[in-house]
Amino acid sequence: MKSIKGIYLLLGSNLGDRMRVLDDTRILIKEKVGKIQKISFVYETEPWGIRNQPSFYNQVLEIQTGLSPHDLLKSLQDIENEIGKIKLGKWRERLIDIDILYYDQLIIDDEYLTLPHPEIQNRKFTLIPMCEVNPDFIHPIFNNIQKELLLKCPDKLNVWPLNTNLV
Ligand code: ADP
Ligand code: MG
Repeated sequence: MKSIKGIYLLLGSNLGDRMRVLDDTRILIKEKVGKIQKISFVYETEPWGIRNQPSFYNQVLEIQTGLSPHDLLKSLQDIENEIGKIKLGKWRERLIDIDILYYDQLIIDDEYLTLPHPEIQNRKFTLIPMCEVNPDFIHPIFNNIQKELLLKCPDKLNVWPLNTNLV
């Protein structure tokens, strides 16, 4: 059934012990933001934009929070700083990046926050875990569900689920 409610975050890390960084980030999210309702696999993703950097580990979370969108952004930025974000420039390596993908069906576009996140439809590393967590969630602008966005997505980068049993 198509769904319209849900707050979704994308975690991304391509520095250090990436799995550990995602684990620590989820712990801080539970402490400072709210409950984690659903969690995708961790996907390994070829780097986007600049190719000669380590691959990314990406994961989508569905969370529950009483925070407003802007307060949520602020809390996530505090968590990024606490984990020790290292910024070397746009699309460069970073310890942790936390993006808000959707906040229910809210549409916001101001100097701090754009919702839905403007790149969702262009990135398989977002759409694949999003489809795992809630394939029927409606994009409030395009009016497509996640499965439809994935079918239409032109992104050619490889995204594969990490099978920790095989490592
Ligand atoms: P990026 O995520 O684009 O690689 P940053 O994490 O440094 O880069 O974020 C840059 C800015 O993006 C932040 O200062 C934040 O205010 C803004 N921003 C706008 N919309 C969103 C969103 N949906 N989720 C997270 N950050 C956002
Ligand atoms: Mg970000």
